[in-house]
Amino acid sequence: MSDIIYTFKNNAYFNITNRCTCKCIFCIRNEHEAIGEATELWHDHNPSFEEIKAAIDAFDFTNYPEAVFCGYGEPTCAYDNLIAAAKYMKEKHSEVLLRVNTNGLGELFNKKPIAEEMAKYIDAVSISLNAPTAERYQEVTQPCFENAFPDMLAFAEKSKKLFSSVQFSVVSIISQEEIDASQKLADEMGIPLKVRIYS
Ligand code: SF4
Repeated sequence: MSDIIYTFKNNAYFNITNRCTCKCIFCIRNEHEAIGEATELWHDHNPSFEEIKAAIDAFDFTNYPEAVFCGYGEPTCAYDNLIAAAKYMKEKHSEVLLRVNTNGLGELFNKKPIAEEMAKYIDAVSISLNAPTAERYQEVTQPCFENAFPDMLAFAEKSKKLFSSVQFSVVSIISQEEIDASQKLADEMGIPLKVRIYS
């Protein structure tokens, strides 16, 4: 079976689904079968909560102060399991900070508000801004929704008030001019921006 929990640098990561609502042009899934210490991140079936729970029970979180929902897929595409796993983590490992790396389109996909419930169990979210304009966002992220940029921004705006920490990210596959414009947008929204180096 592929890895449900894997480690990369000093973090533990939860790989709870391979479903995703985007086809980002920089997605690591296009190039590699796994990252970090993982051996395989493509699931032969998306894990059930029982399988995720078993992986949590088997993992030693002693040296991992933070765990991140960020695998070969968008965590909010397995929303019920995301919430159940985060809730279980808070019961069993309340000392571990929980972050979700998300494309910010989980409310569109699930057709309901989710940020409020997520914030009960999740400490931080990192949202993929990916581009400074709606047009470039569609090109870089290739979401399965038309004009998804405003929904992603609305999720980020709402998240600011709900989570202890909110961050945007872009990948350096876009131009420096676009990175600068993304920084300006992030500054205007009062959300820190992380630039991930494309490799
Ligand atoms: S949202 Fe994440 S998993 Fe989905 S295509 Fe983009 S980079 Fe890949």
